[in-house]
Amino acid sequence: MRLTVLGPWGAYPTAGEATAGYLLEHNGQKILLDCGSGVLSVVQKYVKLEELSTAFISHRHHDHIADLGCLQYACLIDSDLDKRRDPLQIYIGGEAVSESDPYRTMKGSVVHSVLENDIWNLHGMEWSFFKTFHEVYCLGVKIIVDNKTLVYTADTYFDESLIRFCKDADVLIVETSFYADIQNARQYGHMNSMEVGQLAKMANPGKVVLTHLPHFGNTASLVEEVKQNYSGEVVLAKSGLVFDL
Ligand SMILES: [Zn+2]
Ligand SMILES: [Zn+2]
Repeated sequence: MRLTVLGPWGAYPTAGEATAGYLLEHNGQKILLDCGSGVLSVVQKYVKLEELSTAFISHRHHDHIADLGCLQYACLIDSDLDKRRDPLQIYIGGEAVSESDPYRTMKGSVVHSVLENDIWNLHGMEWSFFKTFHEVYCLGVKIIVDNKTLVYTADTYFDESLIRFCKDADVLIVETSFYADIQNARQYGHMNSMEVGQLAKMANPGKVVLTHLPHFGNTASLVEEVKQNYSGEVVLAKSGLVFDL
């Protein structure tokens, strides 16, 4: 499977970039992990929107879902133009959607809910989920293909129970919202770089990718701070960065 980073930013995008969004490709399937602000524009550098088969949304914060409504409009238009054959399957972390939900099934896309105990077998990929520690219901995800494991934490504060889910991932995409000197990251529902280092040390992934990055300070120093606790490979997420597993 191949993962392409579309958006490395937390909260809002920098000029021409995007907040949370990743393109996952396997067995001809093209899947969006989160659809934050700017993702709909950036993803078209890599695929046509009508090629997307599935979108997984970790939670309903704007920096993870902001572009979903416009993606649904694209699916509607592409269906009318006969460019999209099958509706986009959209899975949003949390309970079933209501009639008043801004994101609901329309022509070209079907909206489902997904919960932490769900398990999917999707075109040769095994998906499982974990409920993270965040202000709203939020799901991290683990995807296994041919003994290769990708874990995406989505948004969470540090809790030791995360270790089990991240254990021995080949690639761990982990939110790193704050520098080490912000010691109350938990209050904001996020992790600082020291906590990410602790998590990495205990989970022992093949590679750690820092994402959901802050808009202040020198983000390169996040890598150095994580390395104070963890001796493995650490990279900073960046638009266009590709991981083949
Ligand atoms: Zn976020
Ligand atoms: Zn969030």
